[in-house]
Amino acid sequence: MTTPMDKIDHEIATNFTGIRARIAKTAQKWQREARDIDLIAVSKRQPIEYMEAALRAGQRHFGENRVQEAQGKWPALKRQYPDIELHLIGPLQTNKAQDAVALFDVIQTVDRLKLARVLAKEMQAAGRSLPVYIQVNTGKEPQKAGVFPEDADAFIAECRDSLGLNVVGLMCIPPAEEQPAPHFALLGKIAARNGLKLLSMGMSADFEVAVQFGATSVRVGTALFGLRDDA
Ligand SMILES: *Cc1c(COP(=O)(O)O)cnc(C)c1O
Repeated sequence: MTTPMDKIDHEIATNFTGIRARIAKTAQKWQREARDIDLIAVSKRQPIEYMEAALRAGQRHFGENRVQEAQGKWPALKRQYPDIELHLIGPLQTNKAQDAVALFDVIQTVDRLKLARVLAKEMQAAGRSLPVYIQVNTGKEPQKAGVFPEDADAFIAECRDSLGLNVVGLMCIPPAEEQPAPHFALLGKIAARNGLKLLSMGMSADFEVAVQFGATSVRVGTALFGLRDDA
């Protein structure tokens, strides 16, 4: 007899295998190593059963976009699976920075000086030097977070040299209605000229293009877990 848990486990494990295979195939096509591409499972607004199934399938790197939501789900799971690596991939308010530093392992959305300063202070206070990504608003969309491309070099230097943040890479979310390739290429160019090795780019709809353009992390949600309640 198949129990519901077996069924969820099977479906989620199948999804992960499928996405990993697509990453590997794309990597091979562009002469890259699949192991250089980290799959971050975006679990925002997904049922806890699906997250547990992903953990049982061996997935350890997850992304969440809200501090408060993550605080409700992850502390217990982190006790159960101490090797979880949790990435903050959504906008961070400075008044949540202390909580974010306590819970997350990587912060991908450093996008303004005030936040960078508060993060540096909170990391020092907590004795944690978390790896951070600078978010770049490659499409210069007014409603979207991220530094503009022309401001990125100076902002990266300020975060690294003046504030001592452990800047490991860049992150972007291309405009929904545009081809993502030029945005991924631009992010790669900014990273290269600033000596940054990691590129967090690509979601369910475009992670293969991102792999082509050098992504070292892809952030995939719905293709792994199914549609979420995005209302
Ligand atoms: C929700 C989200 C994702 C995942 O999007 P899917 O289309 O579900 O794969 C990736 N990155 C960020 C920043 C997100 O907020």
